[in-house]
Amino acid sequence: MKTRQRITTARVLPDNGNNNGWYNLLPPPPPARRPRPHESAHWAIIGAGCCGLAVARQLAAHRPQDRIVLIEAERAGFGSSGRNSGFMLNVHTHGTAKDLGLIRRNMRLWEGGLEDLRRLVTEHRIQCDWSDWGRLYCAAGPEGENHMSEVAQSYDRLGLAYEWFDRAAMQGATATPFYTMGIRAHGSALVQPAALMRSLAETLPDNVDLYEDCPVNEITKGRGFELACSGNMVRAEKLILASGVFITDLGHCRNRMVPVGLYSSLTRPLTATEREPFRGIDEFALVPTSPNGSTVRLTRDGRILMRNGFIYATDKRFGPGGLKDARRLHREAIGRRWPALADIEMADTWGGTIAFTRNDGAIFGKLGENIYGVVTSDISPVTRGTMAGKLLADYVVGADSELLRLQFGIPKAGLLPPDPLLRFAVNFQFRRIRASGALEV
Ligand SMILES: Cc1cc2nc3c(=O)[nH]c(=O)nc-3n(C[C@H](O)[C@H](O)[C@H](O)COP(=O)(O)OP(=O)(O)OC[C@H]3O[C@@H](n4cnc5c(N)ncnc54)[C@H](O)[C@@H]3O)c2cc1C
Repeated sequence: MKTRQRITTARVLPDNGNNNGWYNLLPPPPPARRPRPHESAHWAIIGAGCCGLAVARQLAAHRPQDRIVLIEAERAGFGSSGRNSGFMLNVHTHGTAKDLGLIRRNMRLWEGGLEDLRRLVTEHRIQCDWSDWGRLYCAAGPEGENHMSEVAQSYDRLGLAYEWFDRAAMQGATATPFYTMGIRAHGSALVQPAALMRSLAETLPDNVDLYEDCPVNEITKGRGFELACSGNMVRAEKLILASGVFITDLGHCRNRMVPVGLYSSLTRPLTATEREPFRGIDEFALVPTSPNGSTVRLTRDGRILMRNGFIYATDKRFGPGGLKDARRLHREAIGRRWPALADIEMADTWGGTIAFTRNDGAIFGKLGENIYGVVTSDISPVTRGTMAGKLLADYVVGADSELLRLQFGIPKAGLLPPDPLLRFAVNFQFRRIRASGALEV
């Protein structure tokens, strides 16, 4: 009797062109490995972001005899996990924390992910500019200041230490009078995200085969799974989707997340003359309290990272027009803070997609027979995603732990309305954020 077949064709495949400022600073990678024709494995994981890398590592440790293939559409370190602002957070809260219990539970997961990353960086001597500088929440006007008070209240209620920075202290830390107030928080780390992700991929256990530049465009489910990618077919008994916001394009978790496109630019290194006003400042990392604000870093090699601008990004693509506008806005934002740098050349400008859920909920667990999924979202995603990936591997092999139970205690990502209603609601909210936080950009 013929086994029933169900075929999923990917609606959108990742395509970030050549833009990712962090990745483009790295030496060129060795040629990508591709699957052999008619390859088979016990497990296939789609997506080598922070989640997929963590699933692969932990699954390999649980099942050293199993063959695991990790399939990535672009290069490891090139997707969202390697194109973010590099904050590896132990806790994060925008505004007043509504559900302290949920944040406390999340904190165990964020901190666990951060500790795992710290351990892996040490164990494998990963060169990713790891720094324990922490972060500085910043505000530049009344709207940001209101949010700052809410952040302070949340920290107080969580019993976390922080220091208030007045305008002078902000200027001392950032070499600009732009900011009116700040909160210095400790415990989180900073990284060069593309370097971290690429190295995590390079140091995977021997029973994991990583295939890159290899988009999976079709999944056929019969007795097992057949994945069509780059003209080849990979067969696997079990499938794990760690494909970030693209999980919906593979037919799962639709209407559970809002794909938001964010833009970033990285300047060339500042010259010695340009560095002069920053004398005594090795680095800084600013997180805006206003949702409209800019994430800004001075990196250790003397570049400015500017991240602002957001769009509803259903197609997860960043065309030349949007990138050109973003670059101009980023240069203006740098000029408002450091007028002498108003015309600085950008080494690169890029876009990236982040998933937001309605309720800071989780996308984690079983999606169907022998198919599982994990996506990280919302606040502090990379540390949380690293832990969620590891816990998914525990779950699929039947291992139990307190953290796994904690992960299952995080509410599932709530259902969202479909487009065009969602698009309308998100764009309405974005317009409100832009108008109220105009001074913070
Ligand atoms: C500009 C920006 C700044 C950010 N700043 C921070 C920050 O400072 N700190 C923080 O914690 N988070 C930050 N984030 C968010 C964070 O980067 C993401 O939420 C997180 O990396 C998502 O991880 P993931 O593993 O779920 O997905 P991804 O990193 O997106 O990984 C999924 C992978 O799956 C691959 N894939 C998808 N479909 C297919 C397919 N069909 N076939 C094969 N492969 C496929 C993709 O190419 C991708 O590499 C930021 C995001 C952006 C865009």
